[in-house]
Amino acid sequence: MSIGIVAASGIVMLALIGFEQVADASQVNSSGPAVGDRHSHGNPDQIRVTRVELDLTTDFERKELKGIATLLLRRMPGCSPGTPLDLDTRELTIERVMAGPADDAMKEVRFELGDDRRGQSRSEAEAKMDRLLGARLRVFVPEEETRVRITYRTAPTASALQWLDPPRTAGRQQPFLFTQSEAIHARSWIPLQDSPGVRITYGATIRGPKNLRAVMSADRLPGQEEPGVDRFEMPQPIPSYLIALAVGDLGFRTLGPRTGVYAEPSVVAKAASEFVDTEAMIKAVEARYGPYRWGRYDLLVLPPSFPFGGMENPKLTFATPTILAGDRSLVSLVAHELAHSWSGNLVTNATWRDFWLNEGFTVYLERRIVEDVFGPDRAAMEAVLGLRELREELAAFPPRDQVLHIDLTDRDPDDGMTRVPYEKGALFLTTLEHAFGRERFDAFLRAYFDHFAFQSITTADFERYLQDQLLKTDPAAAAKISVQAWLHEPGLPPGFPEPSSSRFAVVAAAARDWLDGKTAADRLSTQGWSTHEWLHFLQALPLELPSEKMAALDQAFSLTASGNAEISQQWLLMAIRNHYAAADSRLEEFLTSIGRRKFLMPLYGELKKTAEGTARAKAIYAKARPFYHPIAVESVDRLLGTH
Ligand SMILES: [Zn+2]
Repeated sequence: MSIGIVAASGIVMLALIGFEQVADASQVNSSGPAVGDRHSHGNPDQIRVTRVELDLTTDFERKELKGIATLLLRRMPGCSPGTPLDLDTRELTIERVMAGPADDAMKEVRFELGDDRRGQSRSEAEAKMDRLLGARLRVFVPEEETRVRITYRTAPTASALQWLDPPRTAGRQQPFLFTQSEAIHARSWIPLQDSPGVRITYGATIRGPKNLRAVMSADRLPGQEEPGVDRFEMPQPIPSYLIALAVGDLGFRTLGPRTGVYAEPSVVAKAASEFVDTEAMIKAVEARYGPYRWGRYDLLVLPPSFPFGGMENPKLTFATPTILAGDRSLVSLVAHELAHSWSGNLVTNATWRDFWLNEGFTVYLERRIVEDVFGPDRAAMEAVLGLRELREELAAFPPRDQVLHIDLTDRDPDDGMTRVPYEKGALFLTTLEHAFGRERFDAFLRAYFDHFAFQSITTADFERYLQDQLLKTDPAAAAKISVQAWLHEPGLPPGFPEPSSSRFAVVAAAARDWLDGKTAADRLSTQGWSTHEWLHFLQALPLELPSEKMAALDQAFSLTASGNAEISQQWLLMAIRNHYAAADSRLEEFLTSIGRRKFLMPLYGELKKTAEGTARAKAIYAKARPFYHPIAVESVDRLLGTH
């Protein structure tokens, strides 16, 4: 996932409390015993779901999915007779549960929905976990049966589903539906064992309006074309948080033999132009880290209320339209989501405590792809910006929040998803690369992806593998690095390679010249500056700028009118801080038309610093709230103390 600034993130991270007890369990993979995932009611160590077959109808009027989920089961060694199947659900209405050897030989079976602890006296923390986890679905499956068929429907408030009315789409004519299952939202639209330690294949038939198209994180099955019916198959085993669906008025453009982009018709040409380097990026990763194992790689550009930058749904990355900058300067997000095809989707964090295994590896790979495809200057700029964000967070965080293998015991789970797993994780790998040499480290990574392919692993699994396959091979190089400090201690260990950028040095000099009055704004040589250089320029300016300086910048560079979301957001932060009224209406427009949490949170946070700003934030938010995704709403509600 690409989340950007998340210090004030929302319900996604509410999911992350409670994994502490499984932190050191090492036996987590697609076939081994399950860890005691306290975030799941599932019992995969007894009966494991290995496949899910969906037949769902999308009802845009009622904002619900309804239909059937058929689960294929495997009884694990030691599973005692009479053991029921336990699944996760949240806000699902279960109408009927059947079991049998085949679809045409099913018999109704008994089930219980809800936690049997309910009604007992519960602490506030326990009650919070209950709301978060949802209701356990216990199915009394006869001993010999291996298929369970559940007839159900979702709630209009299902946390994974966003139903957009036509006015909230780019085309404004048709409705749109998309899912976001990470971390534990899959259970709000499918009854299953919702844990990253359980891998499944899936098939799906999606029925909807005849003029809309469904896409999924799966292969589209050809043949028997029937308007309003789309069929899919995902043959590779994946964790539940990677099951994804979108339904809308979608066009498609081919990018390469195995790549393409889906988007609303008015957006698809722009998207195709922005993502033209996708095949080159896949080839760059393959050359270093082994084959792309998922068949096709397509992108889906979502309507602007998508709360994240991107989501690495396998075969089909979901992306925010805010990366369509027009100059391909923001496609490192594609590099990031693509890299997850190796780190995260192929080798998966077994618990959310090990989230850095997904995101730290992915940021490292992302920078390597950017370097291979767009050159070392660009990769260096991104590393400098990333480290700056990390340092800002580390300066503000208590020590316990600065640890890669984070302890989430009785913690506000929001603390788990920050720049730390992303940037500190990537910096750890860069430090290993420098100590052992790029060639050896690349060989190590390639072997790591092969060794753990299609498995879910813990930090301890990684540490053992690192010790055996890299550190032991060169004790002198290993002595330079404290793995203990990197993974289990706060702060940044000394001796990591500090990224630097010569292009940023030029930009910083330009900023100084302008501030000192040596060069007028319209005389600065900004031609050819990328988004990164603009961001660095604006960030190099003092926090307080007099309004004539703000106006001079705006006049020279039309910053208030910028259509680049990254630059706009940086400029609007400065405008709030310096009471630059000329950007007022642009701020409102921005906050009511973009739902990406990375942009929203700092802007609302800056407004909140004054009483007047708080009132303004609340007034704008009242208009914007219906447009935002539930995940963004949760975050902004918490920030502003609304609802
Ligand atoms: Zn990611």
